[in-house]
Amino acid sequence: MIDPKKPDTVAARAGGGFDAGSGGVVPPLQPSTTFVRDADYNLVAPENSYGRDNNDQVRLAEEILTNLEGGEDSLLFSSGMAAISTLIGTLDRGETLLLQKGIYWGTTHWVRGFCEKREIRLVEVDTSNSDELAAAIGSEKPRMVFVETPSNPWLRTTNIRHAADCCKKAGSLLVVDATAATPVLMQPLALGADIVMHSATKAINGHSDVLAGCLTTGNKTSPIWLAVQEARHGAGAILSAYAAWLLIRGMRTLPLRVRQMSSNAMSVAQYLGDHEAIEAVWYPGLENDPGHDVAKSQMPNGFGYLLSFLAKGGKEPALTFCRHLTGIHRATSLGGTESLVEHRHTVEGHLTGCPDNLIRMSVGIEDVDDLIGELEAALSKV
Ligand SMILES: *Cc1c(COP(=O)(O)O)cnc(C)c1O
Repeated sequence: MIDPKKPDTVAARAGGGFDAGSGGVVPPLQPSTTFVRDADYNLVAPENSYGRDNNDQVRLAEEILTNLEGGEDSLLFSSGMAAISTLIGTLDRGETLLLQKGIYWGTTHWVRGFCEKREIRLVEVDTSNSDELAAAIGSEKPRMVFVETPSNPWLRTTNIRHAADCCKKAGSLLVVDATAATPVLMQPLALGADIVMHSATKAINGHSDVLAGCLTTGNKTSPIWLAVQEARHGAGAILSAYAAWLLIRGMRTLPLRVRQMSSNAMSVAQYLGDHEAIEAVWYPGLENDPGHDVAKSQMPNGFGYLLSFLAKGGKEPALTFCRHLTGIHRATSLGGTESLVEHRHTVEGHLTGCPDNLIRMSVGIEDVDDLIGELEAALSKV
């Protein structure tokens, strides 16, 4: 059911009023994996049969996400990669997948291996380049186009409306991984995407304590959606009831957190952009960012919580900076209340061509003066 309320209201009351039995304003946790039938062998609660198909918490969290996303239906998975692999796993032998270049490495790595085994033609394109995108979709007529915007860790912006127009002409499905934006800042379905994907492990849950992935569609009777539904049901990559319950709790503060993170990220990007030890800052909120104008039109209320910056002088100064951070953790992942930095080259650079002086930062909800103070102290050691 689509609630017409604004996102802050939907989130703040997420799941509330659900428990008619106890009167609780938060939903109860029902972890049962199986559900009873009466003496006539009818399910006592017709929507619940076995926990791999569905459960109350998952359904409720999906409803909230559908609502925030302005979609028709959502499916939650046990991780972001479970959502992506289930979706892309619906492609058939011989079909073509167009994948954005330079996105989340886990996606690229899995998709390459899968396409090779399944004999799916994989075309990798810099989709932030509108001409390149249009030419590739026009000539390849792919079954599916998968973009990530803003992209991780390059922070490239893809014009979703333009991509959707190209896809419509070519008969392709457009999927947008909007993890770095969240439904609070960007709604890809309204811009013409067919399916929006999130690693809910990141800002949607927001507390670095749940792994989850989500897909939302604008058309719940489309063949792709029915195939995805069937695949989750059959292959079983559903979110656990506990994780869904925590996710609902996390989503109650989603708009509030995202606004603070996004505003902090903007201040941090501006601070780093003016610093003499920094060669470049990649953040779509900066006016000199190549994706700024497009980002401004598709993310009018903020540019997200993720940014990357390049230390002057190469790998050593970058690692020296990381070594001297106090408070801001050195850790992978993003979207938590706490800020994290990651030297991606150490983790994946030899595989992906990530510059060895690049530091990715997920900006949290801390006091921005404290954050900048910690960055300043570490930069003074470089
Ligand atoms: C983390 C991430 C994923 C994968 O999600 P998991 O929940 O870690 O499986 C996919 N896309 C992006 C952009 C991510 O940051």
